[in-house]
Amino acid sequence: MADYIRIRDLEVYANHGVFKEENTLGQKFLFSFEMEVDMKRAGVSDNLDDSVNYGEVCRKVHDFAKANTYRLLEALAESVSRMLLMEFPQIISLKTEIKKPWAPVGLPLDTVSVEIMRSRHQVYLSIGSNMGNKEAYLKNAIQELDEHPMIHVRQVSDFLVTEPYGGVEQDDFLNGCVELETVLYPEELLDALHEIEQHAGRTREIHWGPRTLDLDILFYDDLIMDTENLTIPHREIPLRDFVLSPLSEIAPDLYHPVLNKTILQLKDECKGKSGI
Ligand code: AMP
Repeated sequence: MADYIRIRDLEVYANHGVFKEENTLGQKFLFSFEMEVDMKRAGVSDNLDDSVNYGEVCRKVHDFAKANTYRLLEALAESVSRMLLMEFPQIISLKTEIKKPWAPVGLPLDTVSVEIMRSRHQVYLSIGSNMGNKEAYLKNAIQELDEHPMIHVRQVSDFLVTEPYGGVEQDDFLNGCVELETVLYPEELLDALHEIEQHAGRTREIHWGPRTLDLDILFYDDLIMDTENLTIPHREIPLRDFVLSPLSEIAPDLYHPVLNKTILQLKDECKGKSGI
C-alpha cells in the first residue's frame, strides 16, 4: 500500500498554447498532483522535514508555469513533473494532471486535460580515462553529472587501475562506476554524457583507442533496449571485470535483466576474462 499527498486544481494564469493569442493573452490552467511519498517517518515524527511541503510544491509549480511558455500541455506536464521530481527527492512517483478549462476549441466543453505518471530513473554508468590526469577527468565528470539539473549522483565506486583492452598499445585506464538518478530518457542521457565527454576534450579517432573520458550507460532501471545508438544493458558488462568490480562495490545485488544474474554472480563468473 502506497501513501499519497494530493493537490487538486491549483489555479495558474499562464501563456501556454499553440495559438499566438494564447501566448499573449494567457488563460487559466488547473494543476493536480498525486505524489507518492513514504509517510511513515513523518507520521511518527510529526516533522515537516520528513515529508513534502505541499505549499512549496504549489509555489514552485506556480512560478514555473508562469516563467516558461510551452505550446503543448504534454510538454508543460513533462517539464513540471521533471522539475518536481528533481526538487523533491521524497516524491517517489508523481501523477500530474493539467486542465485547460478555456481551451480555444470553439465548442462547449468543461475542460481538456492531460495526465501523466512519472518517476526518477536509476542508472549505473561506467566511467574511464587513460590520458593525462585521469583521476581529475573522472572527478570532473562526476561533478558535471551532479551539477546537471536533471541528474543527481547517488553513489561513486572507488577508482581502479586496469590494463587497456581492445589490442591498441596505450596507457593503463582508471575505471569506476557511478549510480545516479535522473529524469532524462536514455537518448537524452546519452547526449548529456557525450557533452561531458567533449568538455573533457574527448575526440573519437581510434576505436578502442586512448581517451580522456569514456562514459557508458550500464543499466537504466530494468530497461532492455537495442537501437542503432544505444544498447542497454551495455553489451560488454559480463566480459569486463573493470566494470563488474567497481559496480559490485556499489550495487552487488543489482539484477541483470537479460542474464538474470546479480552483479556479484557475474563478477565471479568473469574472473580472469579481463585483466585488472
Ligand atoms: P564509446 O566509443 O565506447 O564511447 O561508444 C560510443 C557509442 O556507443 C555511443 O555514441 C553510443 O551511440 C554507442 N552506445 C551503444 N550502447 C551504449 C551504452 N549503453 N552507453 C553508451 N554508449 C552506447
